[in-house]
Amino acid sequence: MVPIATAPPSRRSGAERLVRPMGAAVDALLGSRGCLFTFHRAAPPELWERLPNRNFYLDLDFLDELLGYLARTGWSVVTIEEALRRTARGRAGDRFVNFSVDDCYRDTFEAVIPLFRRHGVPVTLFVTTGIPDGTLPMCWAGLEDVLLNNDRVTADGETIAVPTAEAKRAAYDRIAADWDRDVPAQRYATFCAENGVDAEAMHWKHAMSWEMLDAVRDDPLVEIGGHTMSHARISSLSAAQAFDEIDGCRRRLRERLGVACHHFAFPYGRSGDCGPRDFDLVREAGFASGATTRKGLVRRGQDAYRLPRVTLGGSQRHLALAELHLTGMTGVAARVLGRV
Ligand SMILES: [Zn+2]
Repeated sequence: MVPIATAPPSRRSGAERLVRPMGAAVDALLGSRGCLFTFHRAAPPELWERLPNRNFYLDLDFLDELLGYLARTGWSVVTIEEALRRTARGRAGDRFVNFSVDDCYRDTFEAVIPLFRRHGVPVTLFVTTGIPDGTLPMCWAGLEDVLLNNDRVTADGETIAVPTAEAKRAAYDRIAADWDRDVPAQRYATFCAENGVDAEAMHWKHAMSWEMLDAVRDDPLVEIGGHTMSHARISSLSAAQAFDEIDGCRRRLRERLGVACHHFAFPYGRSGDCGPRDFDLVREAGFASGATTRKGLVRRGQDAYRLPRVTLGGSQRHLALAELHLTGMTGVAARVLGRV
């Protein structure tokens, strides 16, 4: 365990004083609860501040603080496998959390897994196999990298000055939204050519490789699951294509790592991105569970093929917000507001 000294005590105790009684009240009513958190990337605070797409990253110091907070307040951090066991058991007072990292960027290997190891708790990796295979263009990581490391960039023949963190963030948002309406991989290829970027080198600067996955395959604190081959939005595919994406990633992980992966997470994961047909396909492919990004808590009777997960955004660097997720209040709010 590492010493937890990343936040001033006043801020921590303030957050705890404010929201912990709410969690205790919910427990008294409903018994055991589990909360599955998910995020994509993590960065040290000094880099986090400057990142053009920083909401996609957790601040590593905040993650460190959150893991310490969970340990102090009686939450067990568990694998998805263990979360399912505990859900089935439904023991009153049992409180557990899972953290899954989706896609699998290089920082998962270099920074996130070491942090979880220091805390002695497990982390789940949902791997998009096109990333270690080098077949999935990492458009957003590449765009961000070029903006972060240059004061001028060229996009669609237009040169833009991006000297400050604010300018980089604004340019990222504008260009990413534009690519998103088109074919991002094509736009990224053009962008690489315009800015003299070696797309292959950029890929491996940000991707987790099969060698890295091999190195953590036998780590008891690392659980590896599937997240499709090409990060496709499953609901938009035919049943045959959807099954290929789901089963193909399971087979690829087994072939490359020599171990069976039992758990799956849907890319994007909201209600428009995966539905009842897709939950059945995950079961047919032989996975023991499927995770969405619909907010909510895991309780006894939970369908393992539509597990709720709470996405932790980079800007949510407050324990009080994490505690609201742990009480299930943000899930209730999302359902009331129709943000599912
Ligand atoms: Zn993903």
